[in-house]
Amino acid sequence: MTATPEQALEQAALAGIHRFAIPTPFAVGRVNCYLIEDEPLTLVDTGPNSGKALDELTARLGERGHSIDDLELIVVTHQHIDHLGLVEILVEHSGAEVAALDAAAQRLAAFQEDAEREDEFAVEVMRRNGIPEDVTVALRSVSRSFRGWGSHVAVTRPLKDGATLDLRDRSLEVLHRPGHSPSDTVFWDAERQILIVADHLLPKISSNPLIARPLDGSSRRTQALVTYIESLRKTREMPAEIVLPGHGEPITDHVGLIDSRLAGHDRRKEKIHRLIAERPRTAYELAQALWGNVAVTQAYLTLSEVLGHADLLVNEGRVREADDGAVIRYEAI
Ligand SMILES: [Zn+2]
Repeated sequence: MTATPEQALEQAALAGIHRFAIPTPFAVGRVNCYLIEDEPLTLVDTGPNSGKALDELTARLGERGHSIDDLELIVVTHQHIDHLGLVEILVEHSGAEVAALDAAAQRLAAFQEDAEREDEFAVEVMRRNGIPEDVTVALRSVSRSFRGWGSHVAVTRPLKDGATLDLRDRSLEVLHRPGHSPSDTVFWDAERQILIVADHLLPKISSNPLIARPLDGSSRRTQALVTYIESLRKTREMPAEIVLPGHGEPITDHVGLIDSRLAGHDRRKEKIHRLIAERPRTAYELAQALWGNVAVTQAYLTLSEVLGHADLLVNEGRVREADDGAVIRYEAI
């Protein structure tokens, strides 16, 4: 019998894993951090760098009889600021070790410079895909204003894909599952069949496969959705009872949820194919045809969605990129 989300939270708590839903200033709402009461005392993700987030985290820890100073290990699931913004402050107070995927460590350490380069990359992607200059400029200033909620992260325990993170009472297998971001890492407790996934799989919304620079820091445009679907298929095969996401309630039927996400991507791909078959269009024109004029802050998300599905169509040989030197248009084959 499938457990309800409430039962799943209780079961996780019995296994020493406590969910703290920490406020963020972002549209996504609260972010889930997970306290693992083990040795070392471990916090998976921290919430954004804000007084409000710090106050709530302090209060939730207090309810469990802990203070921030007690934290011994902080695990970072991926590079997004709503998940890691408090790392620096928490480490200052507690001296906790910081664990994250080894391949992401360099970029996490150089957060400010890296964010600047990520923005430059995004501007180039937007320009090449037909997004008007004024939207690009506005989006860049929004991104700069968000940066204060982030933090540089000094990783002291780099984790290899496939390695195990051993606590006193449990072993967590470290699995790289890129797609939503290049650094997405999930943590698998095989004994308890509990999987901590952060934003790799979310219950209410499809995880946006954001177009981002690869972990090596180069400015290659990778195929985020293609990568994401490969990652989802791997997760689908895991015998997880409880999946703990980065936002929202626990997932107790990850196979059903992943199947519906895959079907959703398939439908969207076909819709985009029909639009391209009508006439060649830029990714920006495709996004407008699908969603109209969205808020500036959504422009890069919708562009990433379109590019992801266009990549699938290119790989299937149904669509090709026509580059006139200024912008890329997709045309049907
Ligand atoms: Zn994320």
